[in-house]
Amino acid sequence: MTTIANSRPLLDQTGMCDDATLRGSCYEIDLEAIRHNYRQLRAQLGGHVKVYACLKRNGYGCGAGPVAAALASEGAYGFAVASLMDAIAIRREGVSHPLLLYPGPGIAAARTIEALGLTVSISSIDELRQWRSVIGSLSVFIKVDLGFFRAGATPLSVCDLLAAAEDDQRVRVEGIYAHMSELPPAGSQMAQAQYGRMRAVVMHAERLGLRPPLVMMSSTNGVLNHPEMDFDAVDPGALFFGVAEGSLGSRSMPLQPALKTVRTRLVSVKRVDRSLGTVPEIAGLRRGMLLGVIGMGWGDGLPRQLPPNVTALVRGRRARLLPPSHLEHIRIDLSDVPDARFGDEVVLLGKQAHQTITHEEIASQWGTDVVGLYGLLRDHIPKIYL
Ligand SMILES: *Cc1c(COP(=O)(O)O)cnc(C)c1O
Repeated sequence: MTTIANSRPLLDQTGMCDDATLRGSCYEIDLEAIRHNYRQLRAQLGGHVKVYACLKRNGYGCGAGPVAAALASEGAYGFAVASLMDAIAIRREGVSHPLLLYPGPGIAAARTIEALGLTVSISSIDELRQWRSVIGSLSVFIKVDLGFFRAGATPLSVCDLLAAAEDDQRVRVEGIYAHMSELPPAGSQMAQAQYGRMRAVVMHAERLGLRPPLVMMSSTNGVLNHPEMDFDAVDPGALFFGVAEGSLGSRSMPLQPALKTVRTRLVSVKRVDRSLGTVPEIAGLRRGMLLGVIGMGWGDGLPRQLPPNVTALVRGRRARLLPPSHLEHIRIDLSDVPDARFGDEVVLLGKQAHQTITHEEIASQWGTDVVGLYGLLRDHIPKIYL
């Protein structure tokens, strides 16, 4: 049996408020932005091209289940995840679409994979044999490595694998897929070399009568910059969350960010007086100042090595977070917000009154890029869907 921690039944019994109110912190996720981004993509693809939305890492931190339900309602063909937890979250929303499992779980998860009706990724004949030894009737996508040096059969070995899979009556080959290399040197020459390898694999498979129904190799970078690589299906992920690295590709799509707000509250406000003793040598900490504490820390995805220039919004004004970062708390200099009070909202990303903290600003402050910011979202922080 699979179990997932869920605090709701307890909360409902006690008649208490929602998770966000209980915790004081939350992420606001705009499902309409995600639907908009899907429609932007769909409008640029040929009608025959299927969309497998990649919702790995709990839907880029935005919640694989609710995001899958939103995309299913827009007509997405299928989904792809690496973790069984994400697959379970999607099925729990009642989404019964094709669901591809990227390399991740091993054969010990066979019962769960069968119960959820998942398609597994296979990169070698050994993997095929192992899966067949535990699953009688197996659906697979063959994964090919076009030069990323990660999972996937080499272009040289992939047709033997296809032949072995096709040879087995109890194995259904749904497709063949690849993920384009993100290693340097990047650029269109490298992309074209990988595209060339995929075309050669497909042509070889066709000659042997082994071409599977679906060929797929385009993630966000591919669909934005290389329309020729659409083949039969595409599996972008970041795109749905409004993240287009190095955008302005050959397909221009106005995307909207899925993550609207990261907010918490002031859990403490006080004047630093002399009864506290010697003020520690922490930049920004002074006797007489108005000192606050916010209800988020490095355990909630904020940087453990907090840089000195990170600001948050309190009462529509910018206030500086004071390193060091603690597990669930960080100090904040409220000198410019003298009217701040316990319980005030603190915005780390998004709008408050006339001030805005952008994704780019917070990503650079947290020492990452915008897609990395989505990767830092923590599953224990309540999500509010707009
Ligand atoms: C992560 C991943 C994707 C999606 O990549 P994005 O850059 O987020 O679009 C697609 N396919 C595979 C195999 C992946 O691992």
